[in-house]
Amino acid sequence: MPITRFAPSPNGPLHLGHAYSALVAHDLAHDLARDAGGRFLLRIEDIDGARSRAGLADMFRRDLAWLGLEWDEVPAQSTRLAEYARAADWLRDEGLLYRCSCTRAEIAEDAASIGSASTAPEGPVYGGRCRRDGPVAGRAVAWRLDTARAIARTGPLTWTDALAGEQPARPELLGDVVLVRKDEPASYHLAATLDDAADGVTLVTRGQDLFTASHVHRLLQALLGLPEPRWHHHPLLLDAAGKKLAKRRNSPSLEDRRAGGEDGLLLAAQLRLQRFPDGISLGTP
Ligand code: GLU
Repeated sequence: MPITRFAPSPNGPLHLGHAYSALVAHDLAHDLARDAGGRFLLRIEDIDGARSRAGLADMFRRDLAWLGLEWDEVPAQSTRLAEYARAADWLRDEGLLYRCSCTRAEIAEDAASIGSASTAPEGPVYGGRCRRDGPVAGRAVAWRLDTARAIARTGPLTWTDALAGEQPARPELLGDVVLVRKDEPASYHLAATLDDAADGVTLVTRGQDLFTASHVHRLLQALLGLPEPRWHHHPLLLDAAGKKLAKRRNSPSLEDRRAGGEDGLLLAAQLRLQRFPDGISLGTP
């Protein structure tokens, strides 16, 4: 039976899109198989030290309880830095990572000059400057995955999304992603992949905006000898203009709704029936 998770980052309050995502993950684990070993996990993805704010994780727990959800909480990312560092060391020793000193501006410049589309959650696909020329001496470095070399090592891979079916893994769509950031011991890709394996997640449930990230995560699983889960990328909540709901931008936070006296159980029921307020609809931005 599935073990699913909701893995919010404490960099802003949760909104309706998060509530929907948590409900989908919860119901995939529980309502179909309450007594059959399904589990719904909460993992706080607080690796982004600069942006993560203390207190938000508590707010998230209050939000989920208000929606009537029960969960098992697994260790937050900030407690797992040593595991990320170990995996990064191994990848480095295997010659699969290289140093990158590029600034955001340089990456954007190179991407524009080769007409690369931005698909990665963290920005434009990397043009490969430091893979070819090495890093600039004296600058802080991140470590990037040499994706072509990694693919040559694993051979062709596939992965399965519950809604979209079997996918050929195409990590090259995101290029040489950062696995160890300049300021943190891991990036989202490395941390989330290791955590899902450590937490025993069998059905990675999240929004379609992270669909392409799963190509990279599948590659990392194969490199690191981690078990292969299934994925469920659900459609996103879009505002009346068709834009993805964003923290603080176009939808009140769950906390504001709660403070305004809204009934969380009723809201959860409406989200489950896909009856959304404020002109919001489900779709792909
Ligand atoms: N922490 C990510 C976020 O809040 C979600 C990551 C995931 O579900 O894999 O957007």
